[in-house]
Amino acid sequence: MIRLPNVAVPEETARKLREYQAEVDAKPSYAERVAEAKRQFSSRNKATNAAFRVVRQRLDEMCSGARRCAYCEDSAADEVEHVRPKDLYPEHVFRWENYVYACGPCNGPKGNGFAVFESGTGQFRDVTRGRDDPIVPPVAGDEVLIDPRSEDPLDYMELDLVGTFMFLPAPGGDHRSTKRADYTIELLHLNDRDLLIAARREAYGSYFARLHMYRDRKLEGADNDELSRLAEEIRSMGHSTVWQEMKRQREFHEELTRLFDDVPESLAW
Ligand SMILES: [Zn+2]
Repeated sequence: MIRLPNVAVPEETARKLREYQAEVDAKPSYAERVAEAKRQFSSRNKATNAAFRVVRQRLDEMCSGARRCAYCEDSAADEVEHVRPKDLYPEHVFRWENYVYACGPCNGPKGNGFAVFESGTGQFRDVTRGRDDPIVPPVAGDEVLIDPRSEDPLDYMELDLVGTFMFLPAPGGDHRSTKRADYTIELLHLNDRDLLIAARREAYGSYFARLHMYRDRKLEGADNDELSRLAEEIRSMGHSTVWQEMKRQREFHEELTRLFDDVPESLAW
């Protein structure tokens, strides 16, 4: 999971989203706003809708690798996903900043899962609405789920590059940031899908091999065109969290320390 770059939608699209949102907000009760949010979103989130064609195109530009999912970074992203679920927060259903591009295997199980640190008490409260629960607003509070649109997930978690290739809460974090990391990892199933672990391990091997090749070719006197091409290949690879972590944790791994020391320009990629 990686921080997404800030990309804006054109004013025309932003205006359309505000219009859609206003229609939802105009419903008199919370339960009606929830129903309207779901109805309007499914009828507008279509290829025939010009605003949503732009939304999808801009979300695509924000993805790492070849349109990879914002959460797992592995599968192809093809669903406009709400960080704050529309079933709980209809007032955010058409808010551009609430969208990420995600894959079905992440979006499906996440569902309406959400939690907050309750205002006032600061207590962790799971506000996910069960099937038979009354349609009432969730308790107010700060979100627990890490939002890759506005925050850097790597401020809260780190990837274990030594053997497990699992995410862990970042060391030294306070109670709240540790809880946020744990909750995000669990809700998005970032550690309990074998294929994801295998893909991160494979990405580590590929990044390492490609950087090694870049280093070797540079020492052998390759020209700038070739080096730029090799660099671009690394920059466009998927699972960029793995690459970010290789740079960040390089001093703890001897082979990485040596490699990055030889080609320090790669730290800027
Ligand atoms: Zn995913």
